[in-house]
Amino acid sequence: RFITFEGGEGAGKSTQVRLLAKALGDLGREVVLTREPGGADGAEAIRALLVNGAVDRWDAHTEALLHSAARRDHLVKTVWPALGRGAWVLCDRFADSTLAYQGYGHGLDHQLIATLAEVAMGAFRPDLTLILDLPVEEGLHRAGGRGGGEDRYERMGVDFHQRLRHGFLTIAANEPQRCAVIDADQPVPTVHENIVSVLSRRLGL
Ligand code: C5P
Repeated sequence: RFITFEGGEGAGKSTQVRLLAKALGDLGREVVLTREPGGADGAEAIRALLVNGAVDRWDAHTEALLHSAARRDHLVKTVWPALGRGAWVLCDRFADSTLAYQGYGHGLDHQLIATLAEVAMGAFRPDLTLILDLPVEEGLHRAGGRGGGEDRYERMGVDFHQRLRHGFLTIAANEPQRCAVIDADQPVPTVHENIVSVLSRRLGL
């Protein structure tokens, strides 16, 4: 099974992906926890190019190409081998982030992004995508509080983050079979319980 976690800044993806990995591990499943951009040696090298530079280092089109190359490497080296041996693969961000950030956020043509997705992964798609949703102000507040400063997008305007949120919700509305929207504006254990209940309903546990 391939399960992806999506959402804007400060939505709590990394926390929730770890909690779910532990819960599935406790049930005796082999779990591979990974992330994008990154998740394999080459893809992590590309991640450094993407997240360490200034926010306008790349135009959106180039950025989408880099994400696609990283995705291909990640799929070939990490995700597909793990799925092949029966592991559950949990991924912190995946292709929906490209559509949300470069498409809805930066205005890159959606058809072009769909074409890149086709090139990078063919018809492969997640079995389930959890979209962690919360008000933009709350997400930015949380993300600002965690420090670190790797997250260059936290410095973008609120409008950008509103477009992101709208993008993720539109993706979920367009593909209700694959996607579930999770209210992330709740305590961590509550969000986790909701995620587990979506999993057991949709995939069986
Ligand atoms: O998952 P995380 O929030 O750590 O994402 C790493 C960085 O890459 C963030 O700044 C995120 O907003 C950005 N990103 C992006 N375009 C994507 C995926 C992630 O700009 N397609």
